[in-house]
Amino acid sequence: MDTKIVKIDDVKAQRDELQHAGEILRQGGLVAFPTETVYGLGANGLDGEACARIYDAKGRPSDNPLILHVANRSMVDQVAAKVPALAEKLMAAFCPGPITLILRRRSIVPDRITGGLDTVGIRMPEDDVARAMIKAAGVPIAAPSANISGRPSPTTAEAVAGDMAGRIPLILDGGPCRFGVESTIVDCTGDKAVILRPGAVTREMLTELLGEDHVNLDPALVGAKVVPKAPGMKYTHYAPKAPLTLIEGMPTRMARAFRREIERLQAQGHTVGVIASHEVLQELSDIVPAELMADYGHQQQLPAIAANIYEALRSFDDKPADVLLGEGTTDEGLGLAIMNRLHKASGFRTLPA
Ligand code: AMP
Ligand code: MG
Repeated sequence: MDTKIVKIDDVKAQRDELQHAGEILRQGGLVAFPTETVYGLGANGLDGEACARIYDAKGRPSDNPLILHVANRSMVDQVAAKVPALAEKLMAAFCPGPITLILRRRSIVPDRITGGLDTVGIRMPEDDVARAMIKAAGVPIAAPSANISGRPSPTTAEAVAGDMAGRIPLILDGGPCRFGVESTIVDCTGDKAVILRPGAVTREMLTELLGEDHVNLDPALVGAKVVPKAPGMKYTHYAPKAPLTLIEGMPTRMARAFRREIERLQAQGHTVGVIASHEVLQELSDIVPAELMADYGHQQQLPAIAANIYEALRSFDDKPADVLLGEGTTDEGLGLAIMNRLHKASGFRTLPA
């Protein structure tokens, strides 16, 4: 299959291209599209067979449900049986935006996409290409991230093409994603908001809106040996091709800890790649060649680190490093989402700084 990449700079002027994408989706085909979080791999969310093609293209386990992307409130009511007061509050505050609400589903939602659950994940993206495409399709769009299962999520059209070329007919290119980590998933089916996956709508933002007593973290996120409530969170994920180990601790101790570990690994004959902050990489230029470094941004600038993290992981796909070391961030604010992805990418291999 030939994969066409169409750059969308102006959703009004490029109506025809978006209509074409809508047509492919209505006919059961797949279209990769930009959102403010990561690129999605979309299918008609009311068509079980179309959604099955997403699982095939990604190699995704069938028990891992898909999120339905909607363009407006009436599409929410089309697929959600009930919107509790808690969800209304979250929607008023954060939608459209990088948040997914888990709600009771209507029967119109195909079983194929819910992994057998009686709930459905619903997200209203803010990105104007995503919104225009959903409107052009006229149906809710089921979409996971547009990567091969287990790989880092794509935040550019090039990264999508790297995984999906030949597997899908169309990629809409809207440029790099603004947030760079997937949506915050919040279970709204109980009396408290439960964060199942951290994202750019942070725990602190939810607590400020709902109060400390009304926001919980899924215990699986903080290391408890329980099955995560978001089925996708139990799989290894975001993994670069070479094994990654994280170094965690005080920013001021980082560079020293990296140096020690790099020297140890190099003495064993390893070619070491480093994914770290600008500050740490600067200190390592005498022992790590520039092409084996990925700079994820400045230490204190979490939004930039989130936006860069998947490209940094993917940048080692065709570099000779056989082991990777990564720098951990704080787990406050957006840091919780970044550290969640880094822990999964490293299979929870960590060293203290
Ligand atoms: P992806 O979009 O590839 O990042 O994957 C979507 C994530 O949402 C996965 O972790 C899913 O397990 C999770 N998810 C989707 N629907 C539900 C649901 N109804 N309940 C819990 N988690 C869900
Ligand atoms: Mg994913």
